[in-house]
Amino acid sequence: MKNLKLPFKKTNIPESVKIFKQLPEKKLRQVFNHKIKFNHKIQFTKRVKGSIALACATILVLSGSYASDYLKTHENNIFSTDSYSVIEDGKEICKLRDPEMLDTVLLKLENDLEKSHSHDIAIENKFEVIESKAKDNEVVTDEQLYDILENTVNYSILAYSININSEQIGIVNSEYEATNVIEEVKNYFSKDYDEGSIVEVNTIEDVEIKQVKASNTEIKKADELVNYIIKGTDEEQKYIVEEGDTYWTIAEYFNMTLDELISANPNSDPDWIQIGDELNLVVPKPFLNVQVKRKVTQEEKTEYETEYTYVSYMYNDEEVVDRKGEYGISKIEALVTEQNGIQVAKEVLSEEVVSEPVSEIVTTGTQDPPPKKGTGYFINPLPGSYISSRFGSRSGGFHLGQDMAKAAGSAIKAADGGTVTFAGWSGSYGYMIDIDHGGGFTTRYAHCSEMYVSVGEKVYQGKVIAAVGTTGVSSGPHLHFEVRKYGSVVNPASYIGVQYR
Ligand SMILES: [Zn+2]
Repeated sequence: MKNLKLPFKKTNIPESVKIFKQLPEKKLRQVFNHKIKFNHKIQFTKRVKGSIALACATILVLSGSYASDYLKTHENNIFSTDSYSVIEDGKEICKLRDPEMLDTVLLKLENDLEKSHSHDIAIENKFEVIESKAKDNEVVTDEQLYDILENTVNYSILAYSININSEQIGIVNSEYEATNVIEEVKNYFSKDYDEGSIVEVNTIEDVEIKQVKASNTEIKKADELVNYIIKGTDEEQKYIVEEGDTYWTIAEYFNMTLDELISANPNSDPDWIQIGDELNLVVPKPFLNVQVKRKVTQEEKTEYETEYTYVSYMYNDEEVVDRKGEYGISKIEALVTEQNGIQVAKEVLSEEVVSEPVSEIVTTGTQDPPPKKGTGYFINPLPGSYISSRFGSRSGGFHLGQDMAKAAGSAIKAADGGTVTFAGWSGSYGYMIDIDHGGGFTTRYAHCSEMYVSVGEKVYQGKVIAAVGTTGVSSGPHLHFEVRKYGSVVNPASYIGVQYR
């Protein structure tokens, strides 16, 4: 702003004073008795500031013309005439001819300060203008006033605070930055989702962005604040992986649960840590929790039903699956709401059946099973089989049982009731089951492909205990069946279909 340099001329009669006196009292007060007070300023928007500046400019032009008239007729360094003292903190800091100059110059100073800080500011001083007398050389120009004010004003920076559930979490430079910080946090928690599927991202907590006065040191960088909100803390604690470390031992050492260590290191794979890797030991407790609402298309399984056919020739604890059931498939479009990756709500929008489920058909018996103990009589453990190798001497060796050939998967039955004493792998026997029938008699079933009983289990005579296979040393699917009396092998052929005790 340029100083008002007006031609100074000496005249005797202050014409302008007359003019002023002719003005109505109210108008005079408006023009001259106006006391400016800069109490902490209301934050005007640029537009409002603009209109204030325009109003000031108008007043300036008006008062300028009065002043011009006045000065034209009153250049005077001998007599004191009407002036206005600017008072700050009870002290006069300068004198003005035109009281409106304070407003105009303060506004310019504020604008300049905002520009140099790239920031809104608030001037804290209270200025007052009171009537006084001064000679022409005692009043200041607007340039001088600018310098005086620049050295006088105290101001604070107007920044923006992010409050989460009414608690101040951090301060950033601008409202734009604050909004961005919240958006960044939302992005962080929704980054793993397919962007096209996201309908809405909301925070659980109340977020408020408030204008506050702050000092430079209180203002955080936006990206630092994003990090702080995500982790819930500024704390840093790292651990460098050493030889022999696992997630488990590290968690235990630092008194953390495995889950905590995993959640503190979302970008590290617990199964693939290497010596020298840096692990974070601070478990994140985000200030903001984010809910992501997504539209998803999913395939869902529909359960199948099981239909039973009852036959009298089977025991009621036996089952034969005649037809395997199949799950049905439906294509579902749904709105899914997830919080921290966990589904909290699901609204099905549409459902399309891709395939209907197929019922499972099972045959089961009506007979009560016999008691689970030895009867003293052996039945054929593999009906419908033929003997492929007999008990006794065989090519220079001795065959301890008899081989009974039948298709792989055929049901092997317990020759008599008893207690399972072995069920597992046994070298050349392959998968093998031993049953103790009491009275010193045991039976052995070898080369099985599957076993349906376990050690200690009591079985009844005829119970399906295994399936025919060719595990261990075997030249094709068959059951190697042994009968032992007090531990010594006897010829099974002599015992099947026989009361043995
Ligand atoms: Zn054999």
